[in-house]
Amino acid sequence: MKQKIIDLFQHVHGRAPAVVTRSPGRIEFIGNHTDYNGGTVLGASIDRDVWVAVAPRTDGQRVFYSDFSGEKTTLASDVTARQEGETSWINYPLGVLMALPVFNLKAPQGFDYVATSDLPTGAGLSSSAAIELASGLAFCALTDQHPDRETLVKVGKHAENHFVGVPCGILDQGVSGFGEKDHLVFIDCRGPHFDTVPLSEAANFWIFNTHTKHALVDGLYAARHRECMEAAKTLGVSLLVEATPEQVEAAKPMLSSDAFKRAKHVVEEIARVGQAVAVLKQGDLVAVGRLLTASHRSSQHLFGNSTPELDFLVDRLSTAPNVYGARLTGGGFGGAVMALTGPAFGIVQAEAVAAAYAEKFGARPDILRMRTGDGAALA
Ligand code: ADP
Ligand code: MG
Repeated sequence: MKQKIIDLFQHVHGRAPAVVTRSPGRIEFIGNHTDYNGGTVLGASIDRDVWVAVAPRTDGQRVFYSDFSGEKTTLASDVTARQEGETSWINYPLGVLMALPVFNLKAPQGFDYVATSDLPTGAGLSSSAAIELASGLAFCALTDQHPDRETLVKVGKHAENHFVGVPCGILDQGVSGFGEKDHLVFIDCRGPHFDTVPLSEAANFWIFNTHTKHALVDGLYAARHRECMEAAKTLGVSLLVEATPEQVEAAKPMLSSDAFKRAKHVVEEIARVGQAVAVLKQGDLVAVGRLLTASHRSSQHLFGNSTPELDFLVDRLSTAPNVYGARLTGGGFGGAVMALTGPAFGIVQAEAVAAAYAEKFGARPDILRMRTGDGAALA
């Protein structure tokens, strides 16, 4: 990929780049809807990246190109307006340029820019965080600044929340920034604090993307958020992370049926993240897989963010040989299922699951196989 982006840069801008960076996509491993409840989450950085190359210009122009759009766009360095339509992907690097000064970093003035990627976009793998971090690292290197990972992560999140306008949690940028091959990233969302936990190199990830999306997904997210906050208030805590499963059980008579179920999911899911860290440290993938599938069942029965399509995939996968566990990954209400498998689970088995799904639902899910990969870095 490095040679590919150097060649592309040469082709587009007629010279060599000064800096090349990459940053990976991520999978939400376990910890579903725990972030805004102050909880913990584990994510996997994957071996697919967004790559960015830049070179300085002295005329103050910023010339953006991505194979995503296939066209060059030139903006003066004082352009701060959000881009619409074809060029809206530029909001990601532009948002990063706007976020840098917020963290006392200098944004470069003029430059030539190229982004390319082997990471599918809009597949729930957070290509947005990957392009933010790869861009942030590239812009800083161009101006001889070397921020620590946490600052880079915060710059990316700030760009996405405040400039692009997506209220994502810290998982996306945190995992893309702190990822390590053969590790998972553990995030305590209250700090946030970041750590890595070893994962056996035998672990394989499969994503089955259904491309389904509930028509009311934004409203459903808002409703879940509200129910969680309502439960926290009744429990007398500011966020659900401060309540134990026993306290939630004891408060059942005071909570609406929905608020009880949402709170039970959240506190038990946070407990599962802790258990997952413990069994990961023992290298026990069977126990890890059981927690993954339990997480899905909790989404299905308590949090109410699964769908018949996702349940079907989890039912099939979790009973298939060489699969440790499977769960919906991301916000839910459609989207993708992740399976953790041993190396013996191959494309033939994955295709069989996809075929059964297609027979029932009339459309094939996309299948992606991945391993873990390293976090954002200069290349
Ligand atoms: P996800 O983060 O799940 O992939 P998002 O909708 O949050 O989905 O982000 C996808 C957007 O990120 C794309 O529509 C595009 O604007 C931007 N993006 C991602 N990868 C690239 C790339 N290689 N080149 C240009 N833009 C990209
Ligand atoms: Mg995204």
